[in-house]
Amino acid sequence: MSLFENTLKQIEKAASIMGLDENVKRILSVPQREVEVTLPVKMDDGSLKIFKGFRVQHNNAAGPYKGGIRYHQQVDMGEVKALSAWMTIKCSVVGIPLGGGKGGIIVDPKQLSLGELERLTRAYVKAIEPVIGPETDVPAPDVNTNSQIMDWFSDEYSKIKGKDLRGVVTGKSLGAGGSKGRNNATAQGGVYVLEEYAKTVSLNPKETKVIIQGFGNAGGVVAKLLAKAGYEIVGVSDSQGGIFCDQGLNVEELTSCKIEKKSVVNCGGAQCKRVSNEELLEQECDILVLAALENQVSAKNAGNIKAKVILELANGPVMPEADEILDKKGIVAIPDILANAGGVTVSYFEMLQNADGKYWSEEEVNPKLKDIMVAAWEEVSANSKKYNCNLRDAAFITSLSRLEKKIREKGLV
Ligand code: GLU
Repeated sequence: MSLFENTLKQIEKAASIMGLDENVKRILSVPQREVEVTLPVKMDDGSLKIFKGFRVQHNNAAGPYKGGIRYHQQVDMGEVKALSAWMTIKCSVVGIPLGGGKGGIIVDPKQLSLGELERLTRAYVKAIEPVIGPETDVPAPDVNTNSQIMDWFSDEYSKIKGKDLRGVVTGKSLGAGGSKGRNNATAQGGVYVLEEYAKTVSLNPKETKVIIQGFGNAGGVVAKLLAKAGYEIVGVSDSQGGIFCDQGLNVEELTSCKIEKKSVVNCGGAQCKRVSNEELLEQECDILVLAALENQVSAKNAGNIKAKVILELANGPVMPEADEILDKKGIVAIPDILANAGGVTVSYFEMLQNADGKYWSEEEVNPKLKDIMVAAWEEVSANSKKYNCNLRDAAFITSLSRLEKKIREKGLV
């Protein structure tokens, strides 16, 4: 089953619980625009390589298309479509006036030099420039992309247009018009939601063991935030594999070790067990944070998960077929479209700051982010009680009922 079919299944399920208008469902079941581009790039050795890129604009009923750009060897149109639809849904869960889009390039960026990466990024901007803009479609970082790439993006777009249009992309560095708190926002938003959940079950961080899959934009930061809040981090992984250490890991040491030794698998010392990414998910813990890629928990391994709670910082890490098994086992999944919405929320703050030319302090950003995340959590948990459904269905219901209103306002149904 393709990733986009997973998304449609999720929409379908929530739609039937809430009784969503059939035509609204039909509108949300297809992206508004799918763009595929070829990107010729001069490599350092003088050769020319042609890459393939995508930008999908799923829906803009709530506002400009918004969503990251992923650089990964396994990117394809189906994946980008699914990710773009989740963006529409996610922005609506947190109630920000943005639609959903997503982009990607088929590339393993680790194989490119910095210069090649810059030329690839600039080629991508040139190719998708006709369909994006600060009020049309605003990309951002995602898997394997960062503020440096966003800075090149913003610079290239502004050059093409002949004026400063830095608002065309978010997740920029501070000097180039980025927002304070954006780097930590995905993880921070997830922690705010987790704290709200923790209150409902009187969870004590000091007695709570956490495993984190992924150590990038989201996973690396959530490790720091949770360790600071007193949680015990017992397992981590990255694309190379993972380590599990029942006595706990020192996150600060781990972070510098990962920089020095390239992967967390080379860290942690003799008391840690080396595990594969699949094995890591099945180790003993209380909270499992999924902060890597989609489709990590399936019908095959859902029954072996020991955690009581799953916090989804990645997009689509739990497959629909696994949800039923998790529900039966009483494992609570705090869904991606709520748990990781902090990233796009601070991206929205960045758009506001770019438009206004006034910049906020971190002390302004974080409470604003917290208010939005807590309000979304409250609405989702209220819907979960009202419709007697899990948090994923409740988050979809929260989102879809807002989108239904917006689509009606446009006179489409
Ligand atoms: N890539 C992030 C996500 O999946 C952030 C998107 C954005 O900031 O636009 O939510």
